[in-house]
Amino acid sequence: MAIYEPLPSEGPRRRYQLRSPATLEPIGELECMTEADVAQALERARKAQPAWAALGFGERAAVMRRVCDLVLEKQDRILETVMRETGKTETEAFAMEVFSSASALTYYAKHAAKFLAPQKKRIRGMMGLAKQLRIAYKPLGVVGIIVPWNGPFVLAMNQTVQALMAGNAVLLKGSEVTPYSTALVGEFFEEAGLPDGLLQVILGDGQTGAAVVESGVAKVSFTGSVATGRKVAEACGRQLIPVTLELGGKDAMIVCADADLDRAAAGALIGSCMNTGQYCCGTERIYVVDAVYDTFVDKVVERAKALRQTREGESDIGAVFWDRQLEIIESHVNDAKAKGATIRVGGGRNEALGGLYFEPTVVTDVTHDMDLMTKETFGPVVSIMRVADEKEALERANDSEYGLNGGVWTQDKEKGFRLAEQMETGGVCINDMAITYGVPEAPFGGVKSSGVGQVNGEVGLRGYCHLHPMLVDRFGGKEVQGGYPFTAKNLEGMKKFAKLLFGTRVGRWLA
Ligand code: NAD
Repeated sequence: MAIYEPLPSEGPRRRYQLRSPATLEPIGELECMTEADVAQALERARKAQPAWAALGFGERAAVMRRVCDLVLEKQDRILETVMRETGKTETEAFAMEVFSSASALTYYAKHAAKFLAPQKKRIRGMMGLAKQLRIAYKPLGVVGIIVPWNGPFVLAMNQTVQALMAGNAVLLKGSEVTPYSTALVGEFFEEAGLPDGLLQVILGDGQTGAAVVESGVAKVSFTGSVATGRKVAEACGRQLIPVTLELGGKDAMIVCADADLDRAAAGALIGSCMNTGQYCCGTERIYVVDAVYDTFVDKVVERAKALRQTREGESDIGAVFWDRQLEIIESHVNDAKAKGATIRVGGGRNEALGGLYFEPTVVTDVTHDMDLMTKETFGPVVSIMRVADEKEALERANDSEYGLNGGVWTQDKEKGFRLAEQMETGGVCINDMAITYGVPEAPFGGVKSSGVGQVNGEVGLRGYCHLHPMLVDRFGGKEVQGGYPFTAKNLEGMKKFAKLLFGTRVGRWLA
């Protein structure tokens, strides 16, 4: 049964029936905003933004701290809404959506003033004697933030906080699969006293998302699939507006012979199965060197068999968030089975639970001819491949169209860094599951098909700004450099000066 189905519409607004992935019961309807609605939202945001940009960082930070208080006070509301729309476990809903949101709000409220303070830059060489440079971080105006369904509250909150702290207004578009989890972000900011119009939640489907991209926003921050990312990039390219694309992944984990195998096995499971595997930096491929392969697989299998999957009470593995994803997971596992893979644990739907549940699954004897090792599966599946040595592990890990994150497990930290540097990914975690998205000091973003640009931390905040250089002549512009009239004598002087500056050892030292 589809958890998101079109309903007949009476007016211009498309309507959908939403169902819980855990129970398949109806949980509400979604009415999509139209292009005209989005245009009106943009106008309101444009009117509100200049006054917000004129406020100091302290006042903006105070709003973020009030939102943080609300996130903590009303965490049950967040948990209930997110779990109803996604079917994820309560621990995951708390850790990923509540804890990480509070962390982002606190971090950016505290650090934005430092990261975005106007900077005085020393100008190198002779030019520095006459000129001074100052760089201001100017907000872009109204930005569009478009997010997916796998972290519907935190992914929206994290980018919204950064954009607002940088002085922008935001049109925030959540996924049609999880609209009300994202809508909560808007509700909390409103309750915290954010001035009207600065953050508007745009409810709707892909067509509504496209309307946001085309509305006249000054930048788009997009998180979602590669296919949609390409469309968004094309639309932004046509309009000549900047875009960051945080897209899908097929993260590889390398297990070296000297790894702590108990920790690595635990890391493989949580890395592959957290959020029911629907985590952009989820571990989707594991390469284990021959020397420890059998022991590692045994440890993973033993731990996987102990995982609990229930609808009520304590559970380790939640539902798959929507039916189309469940079909993809099932088709990848079936394709692997048909091509000779061995299912060591699980391998199919958990029909007993009634909703969209897929058993925690461990698959071995996989190859790169299988979808399970090449396409994004986004399910609770641990796929393990035997490799001869670390060299082969690295080659296999890099043999992917994706490059979001990666993992290396070894007790030799320097070797870990050496291997990590050679991974063709946006980032790497050594002896840990992929947690870089939650570490704002780490710039986050994929390479290859996994994305364009980076978000979070200093880089992310500055990405919501125009870096505005202001160059001033120290002597009040008494002599304009290179000014009229152009004379042969002046040109000759410039040529001699260039030779002195760039053609001599002293000159190069000064330059
Ligand atoms: P999706 O691309 O289908 O949808 C993402 C968002 O884009 C939704 O809000 C959707 O309504 C909107 N959208 C759809 N068509 C659009 C269009 N033409 N123009 C503008 N917006 C449009 O992705 P999804 O299935 O919701 O999300 C899952 C994907 O997101 C996975 O591939 C996952 O890896 C990726 N993801 C990446 C990161 C990251 O940081 N790299 C984080 C989370 C998820």
